[in-house]
Amino acid sequence: MERPARSGISSPRRRPPQERGDRISPRLWRHSFAARAGARRRTLGLAALLALCAPLALLALLPPAAAGQEEGSPRPWEIDAGLLEAPGKAAFYRELTRWNEQPSANQLALDAVYYDLSLAIDPVGQQIQGQLLARLRVDAPQATVADLDLAPPLLVQSTTCGGLPAAWSHAGERVSITLDRPYTQGEIVEVTVDYRGTPSSSYGAFGFSSHNGQPMIWTLSEPFGARSWWPCDDWSDDKADSMDLRITVPSGLIVASNGTLRGVAYGGGTDTYHWQVGYPIATYLVSLAIHPYTVYSDYYAYSPTDSMEIQFYIFPDDYQSTLEANLMTADMIAYFAGVYGEYPFVAEKYGHAQFLWGGAMEHQTCSSMGVFYESIIAHELAHQWWGDMVTCADFRHIWLNEGFAVYSEALWLGDHYGPEGYWGKMNSTRYYGGGTIYCPTLDDWNRIFNVSLSYNKASWVLHMLRHVVGDEAFFLTLAA
Ligand SMILES: [Zn+2]
Repeated sequence: MERPARSGISSPRRRPPQERGDRISPRLWRHSFAARAGARRRTLGLAALLALCAPLALLALLPPAAAGQEEGSPRPWEIDAGLLEAPGKAAFYRELTRWNEQPSANQLALDAVYYDLSLAIDPVGQQIQGQLLARLRVDAPQATVADLDLAPPLLVQSTTCGGLPAAWSHAGERVSITLDRPYTQGEIVEVTVDYRGTPSSSYGAFGFSSHNGQPMIWTLSEPFGARSWWPCDDWSDDKADSMDLRITVPSGLIVASNGTLRGVAYGGGTDTYHWQVGYPIATYLVSLAIHPYTVYSDYYAYSPTDSMEIQFYIFPDDYQSTLEANLMTADMIAYFAGVYGEYPFVAEKYGHAQFLWGGAMEHQTCSSMGVFYESIIAHELAHQWWGDMVTCADFRHIWLNEGFAVYSEALWLGDHYGPEGYWGKMNSTRYYGGGTIYCPTLDDWNRIFNVSLSYNKASWVLHMLRHVVGDEAFFLTLAA
């Protein structure tokens, strides 16, 4: 097998933590370590963290809830990421058919530019209190109403437009806000929505759970679950250019989210985490994962002189069992950057946030992980290029996300284990049945997240395309 060209890849070089202390709060940094260049320095870093977390290390001797590769467990290419990922995603789609299957005319007339979401979370009462500020650009001759998706039972309390109270209605899962005046093409509309309540449990996109007696709050919004916890234009072809998230939780909980942690405000029994997203982001990729995590870092060196932080938010009792797998991530980023072009969010971070789900989800810059198998880590990481940066316009084209992610598993395993890894993965995804990788309908949720078609057959289409055009054209095109 010909391996993909790796020109331009340098060995990961890691930057000492003190140079990057401005990027993460001192509170988090206490729990952090930096695995620096060279195995010896990495070992020292681990020893330092273990010393800090001795009680947690003892807990880690217990059987892990989410283990990586252990003796007797399947080889890396025998783990089916699609089966771990697809059924859960599909479950959310069932709810969509109750409501609206298409964006409204008002939504098509307004493009999301910016969201600022402030959310106070009460794990005991299982309530959220939120305010969403949205800036929307008019992409029609005129706009008089702004529509945002927000699913019941969340209740709208008030809305504004242009800083003034605005009339609104909330029918089904759609909030319609009357603008303070007609807006014309190219103008920016600014609206706010204050709302509160308990996110719909039937959507399953926002979970109030617990782990070892501590709150574990998580989201997984693909494809249409974002509307069940925040108001937004919840369609994958309308990415906001940037976003701020200000998440308030009881003191002691740690909030993992997308983008860069700008700071944490402490006081009054609550902490507010400010995460900032500077890259375009689809609503289904906005996420929260909240728990008194053990937090640590690694680094991906994207140039001889600079590196990007990789943050791990892990249940304390799973720290030891997941460490080896997590520390493969930096090398995987370097590998995929060589294959597909630079990591698309290199000015921010990549990360793993552990959550209570038997699979994983490629949230932008912060994948949510219920398992830590090598192939799953590669799968969710590859989604950062295929799914997160390049996003399907709608979920009929989900194969573009999932086919590339599965094929990326084979590429990584081939690079790491040789032909046995590549062919082991490809052979495990063989499919001889009928059906197109393009999903002809949005009416059948199970068809969208069909593992055989959207995941496995799609990966074989990419393998076939590589054979037809040759390695050079195939990989140069993907990296272009
Ligand atoms: Zn996937």
